[in-house]
Amino acid sequence: MNDFFNDCKKQIFEYHAKLQKRRIPRQTGDLIADLKTCQQGTNPLNQSKIYLYSNKKLKQFRQLLNKIKQYLKVEARHATQGPAPKRVVKERTELCEGCPGLVKELEEKTDPGGIGFCSLCGCGASRRAALSVKLTLAGATCPLSKWQPVRGEENKWKHTKDAVKGVLYSIIDRIKI
Ligand code: SF4
Repeated sequence: MNDFFNDCKKQIFEYHAKLQKRRIPRQTGDLIADLKTCQQGTNPLNQSKIYLYSNKKLKQFRQLLNKIKQYLKVEARHATQGPAPKRVVKERTELCEGCPGLVKELEEKTDPGGIGFCSLCGCGASRRAALSVKLTLAGATCPLSKWQPVRGEENKWKHTKDAVKGVLYSIIDRIKI
């Protein structure tokens, strides 16, 4: 929003300077009113909608890239270190079960493992986001930091295959959504 305001302010000053050069009367009040409109998130020169739209899209795109990067890190840890120790999975499950962020159904899907989904992490309702799976992934994180990523207990070839399959499922589930 700060970038928007600075750009908007710059455009308004340029616009008012041009008006002055052309000796078109423009009240100081107009300049202040225009700046106030900028502050409220609208460009009075009517370029704001495109600007805000592209900025919003860019922000959403960056957030999506970060999510993908974070998710791939989790699968990479699963592939190289294996799943979280059983004791950790149990602790995580207990914490999730007592958390208001837990939902039994998300995007009309249920967790085949019976725990549910986290409605706060933004991972959606893919097969890998079902808590019965997510809680076993050593590198997974809780958006409220109620539990932390850990080192995997032991890597076996099947975990590497599982991670590759997980990425494929996530892509397929994402396309379906
Ligand atoms: S992952 Fe964290 S925020 Fe989400 S349900 Fe579990 S404890 Fe709650």
